[in-house]
Amino acid sequence: MILFHGCGRQHDCGFRVFDKRWFAAGGETAFDLPDGAIAYDRRTITAMKEYSNLHFIETPRKDPTEVPVAIRVRDWNEIYGQYQAESAADQSARCINCGNPYCEWECPVHNFIPDWLRLIKQGRLFEAAELSHQTNSLPEICGRICPQDRLCEGACTLNDGLGAVTIGSIEKYITDEAVKQGWRPDLSHVKPTGKRVAIVGAGPAGLACADVLARSGIEPVVFDRNARIGGLLTWGIPPFKLEKHIVETRREILEGMGVEFRMGVEIGRDLELSELIESFDAVFLGLGTYRYVRGGFPGEKLSGMVESLPFLIGNVHRVLGTNDPAFPYIDVDGKRVVVLGGGDTAMDCVRTSIRQGAFSVTCAYRRDEANMPGSRKEVRNAKDEGVEFLFNRQPVEIVGDGKVEGVRLVETRLGEPDENGRRRPEPVAGSEQNLPADVVIIAFGFRPDPQDWLVENGIETLPDGRISVAVSGPAHQTSNQKVFAGGDMVRGADLVVTAVFEGREAAKSIATKLGIELPGASATRVA
Ligand SMILES: Cc1cc2nc3c(=O)[nH]c(=O)nc-3n(C[C@H](O)[C@H](O)[C@H](O)COP(=O)(O)OP(=O)(O)OC[C@H]3O[C@@H](n4cnc5c(N)ncnc54)[C@H](O)[C@@H]3O)c2cc1C
Ligand code: SF4
Repeated sequence: MILFHGCGRQHDCGFRVFDKRWFAAGGETAFDLPDGAIAYDRRTITAMKEYSNLHFIETPRKDPTEVPVAIRVRDWNEIYGQYQAESAADQSARCINCGNPYCEWECPVHNFIPDWLRLIKQGRLFEAAELSHQTNSLPEICGRICPQDRLCEGACTLNDGLGAVTIGSIEKYITDEAVKQGWRPDLSHVKPTGKRVAIVGAGPAGLACADVLARSGIEPVVFDRNARIGGLLTWGIPPFKLEKHIVETRREILEGMGVEFRMGVEIGRDLELSELIESFDAVFLGLGTYRYVRGGFPGEKLSGMVESLPFLIGNVHRVLGTNDPAFPYIDVDGKRVVVLGGGDTAMDCVRTSIRQGAFSVTCAYRRDEANMPGSRKEVRNAKDEGVEFLFNRQPVEIVGDGKVEGVRLVETRLGEPDENGRRRPEPVAGSEQNLPADVVIIAFGFRPDPQDWLVENGIETLPDGRISVAVSGPAHQTSNQKVFAGGDMVRGADLVVTAVFEGREAAKSIATKLGIELPGASATRVA
């Protein structure tokens, strides 16, 4: 008996439970509803039969090949391989087209997932790439680094029991392969409007905004203080999750669409925001969040204490063969490293330390494993690569004489939920112990760091430092009507895909404000 549990969020889904024998018998006669099962509707089942041909039962979920641990920890390359046309089609054909695509709703950009899966099943790669770009400006990047287990794949109807469709890997395959074969976005139908928009920040939010504006005939000019585009995609996220040539390829695609990049320009230092407001029709801000959250415990100033982002940025420079005196290489080769924190940044730090040749790498996190905010996949990868995890441990002091010698940790137990509904870790009295260390990396996350020049230009911030955007009125408009904002600086530190979503929504809002008609998004949706 194979059971499928739909999430039941939509009453007409009907796809709750069915029996393999019922399918095998080709009809209802062998149908056997288990105790307590909810009935399904025949129309959905018929559609599933026709569409999937039971492929999902015969073909198990198969992720692209993973580079063996012993090899991958010796280099900086991505650890997942790529599907070929046949395997991509085979895995795409597992989608049962369940009628109410929960995957689409859980995907923050609402990708047309079943539709492009169907195109790949039919071998229509370029059409899939076009469709994929209707909703996502960076599909090859999201396919690589979205936490799919808690987004699209977590919501896949097949996730219970048979293994979700490998949505992320197929999304990555579509753009990688289409671009390799010469596909580029077709903007031949786009008429220039003569409007120009300045975008500050070439991170995911800024790039997504530029993408949608270019498709609407509006000329985007992107300013960024860094030499390369990508924001944290380039400088924060390590190459073993996202090789940097992928971001460079995206730059070529965007430039081919008419996006202009002015790199190495810091607004507020090299150029005033007021100048942009004056000389462009609108301005989009996607500056990210870069203020480190501190632990506030004794010993934080000892030599050997390291912040996560400088550690990761210095490492990316080393891998790329570039140099920035503000971010020197921090070498943990042969050292005992302790990383404090449990999010994606902490996982990136532990796995980078492993690749640098650390003697030992331990991650201490104040809640239990189930409550870790990072992607499950990344935690598993870190464990496989030799990272030791200490759950329910909170640092109370960094110990050492001039330099780090260890971390004093106290055990915690989970208490009452906090204002966000997460159970608060409470220290267990008398449970302190010292964990020896040479280097301690703090990965407690980031907070917005609004610059004075924002307020000077009439852009209001919230008490926690995030930029305040319209609740009513044009989406993503700030209190300066010519200025829009999105991504981490509006949401607080979050995800690439949510920054992409906000950049795209802001671009639509800007286009509407400038009286420009948006390109039809759903016209070619149905394959
Ligand atoms: C280490 C790490 C790992 C992560 N891993 C993942 C992951 O696996 N999956 C995931 O989905 N998310 C991950 N994230 C989160 C994700 O990277 C961010 O949510 C996302 O990059 C935010 O996009 P953004 O465009 O808002 O900002 P950013 O990516 O921060 O880009 C902001 C850009 O603005 C530029 N800028 C700032 N101020 C100025 C100025 N005054 N003048 C000119 N330019 C300026 C910056 O140089 C930067 O290029 C990770 C974050 C970190 C730190
Ligand atoms: S953008 Fe992210 S959540 Fe959406 S389909 Fe792609 S991998 Fe899944």
